[in-house]
Amino acid sequence: MFYASAMLKAVFPGSFDPPTLGHLNIIERAGSLFDELLVVVAENPQKKYLFSVEERLGLMQELLRHQKKVAVFIWNSLIVEFMKPRDLHIIIRGVRGTDDFSYEFELSLFNKALDAHIETLFMTADPRYFVLRASAVKELAFFHGDVSGMVPPLVAEALKKKYPG
Ligand code: ADP
Repeated sequence: MFYASAMLKAVFPGSFDPPTLGHLNIIERAGSLFDELLVVVAENPQKKYLFSVEERLGLMQELLRHQKKVAVFIWNSLIVEFMKPRDLHIIIRGVRGTDDFSYEFELSLFNKALDAHIETLFMTADPRYFVLRASAVKELAFFHGDVSGMVPPLVAEALKKKYPG
């Protein structure tokens, strides 16, 4: 149940491996719509990451240090299990196109089946970041390409350390 006087909070979950300008754009825009935005860095044992969960948390914390309404967490289970005990109901997801949408649509139904109180809100990607995905950033960095238009300088530096020239 939502009450008009309650603080409106939302959760933005993702791998953020690594955080990109696309993620930060969604965080900035969602942050302006809610009283508090909880960015949840996922640790899924079935997935292979370039950056450890501690590294991804550290990068996000540093990037969002000045955003007072945004807090960063780590979570290694279903997002609904993160939300339930904290009485959170809103998930934000970014959508870059129809491929993202069909995946995100199914995921939202999956989460709703797990907990009927969960609402997923989709935010369309900023046109500048339509084709920006973390996997492409990693591939480009692996081949020592210029990632400066895709990630903040802190992340570009971290990628250089992973793939020293
Ligand atoms: P990816 O590996 O696809 O970049 P994540 O799992 O880290 O994705 O993404 C977390 C959320 O951020 C998802 O809702 C995803 O759709 C969204 N997202 C990822 N990249 C962008 C982008 N360039 N613009 C808008 N939203 C994005």
